[in-house]
Amino acid sequence: MIYHNSVRLAEDFYCYVWQGRGNNCNASLLSSVLRGERPHVLIDPGHIRNELGEPCFDSLTQAMERDGFKMEDIGLVIGTHSHPDHIEAIELVVEKSSALLALSREEYEFYSTMGKMFFQMFGAKPPQVNPFFYLKEGELSLGAKNNKVTIKVLFTPGHSPGSISLYLEEEKILISGDVVFAGSVGRTDFPSGSPSLLRKSIDELSQLDVEYLVPGHSTELGSIIAGKDKVARNFQMVKMFI
Ligand SMILES: [Zn+2]
Repeated sequence: MIYHNSVRLAEDFYCYVWQGRGNNCNASLLSSVLRGERPHVLIDPGHIRNELGEPCFDSLTQAMERDGFKMEDIGLVIGTHSHPDHIEAIELVVEKSSALLALSREEYEFYSTMGKMFFQMFGAKPPQVNPFFYLKEGELSLGAKNNKVTIKVLFTPGHSPGSISLYLEEEKILISGDVVFAGSVGRTDFPSGSPSLLRKSIDELSQLDVEYLVPGHSTELGSIIAGKDKVARNFQMVKMFI
């Protein structure tokens, strides 16, 4: 059973929108952008299995396979933040592919202290998280010679202390993690959440030129938010809540 709906937003960018009944995040894939044998970048692999027992990781693996991508061919896995519904499956991705892992230093420090306990609170086993490098605010350049891909890393704390968002400038795609959703914003009542930081982060994201907003979760309004006007209206609306 595949619970992920694959949405191709650019030649090398796929969004796997979670459609199950239980909780899990949307995952994203940058395909064939890295040098070497494992060319794909996976963002937020999500849960292994969620609270309703839905096999989230198997579903993602199958959804990717349907598009011609193997979990074994992931070279880099990025976590927008360290909550269980975003990175529980990181260990399995690394096991299958030996992928390198990246998240922000602030989030790694949070994970190493309080974040791990967060997994235990939900009855999940905290995965091994060994970042190969830290994501810093600014440009992250990936890719082979003829196919350079630059991702803008934005430091967007508030929902979690080291949350990052990713912006693909050329394609105008914003992966916002759990900072902003369709019609709502990330919770700030989790450990180390901060409403004032979230507000600032959302303000910053709303300045970007975005055609596709890929939030960490879908909401009642559906999957991703497509179209500059819709994205702008969504920012306008969510700013009223925070
Ligand atoms: Zn979260």
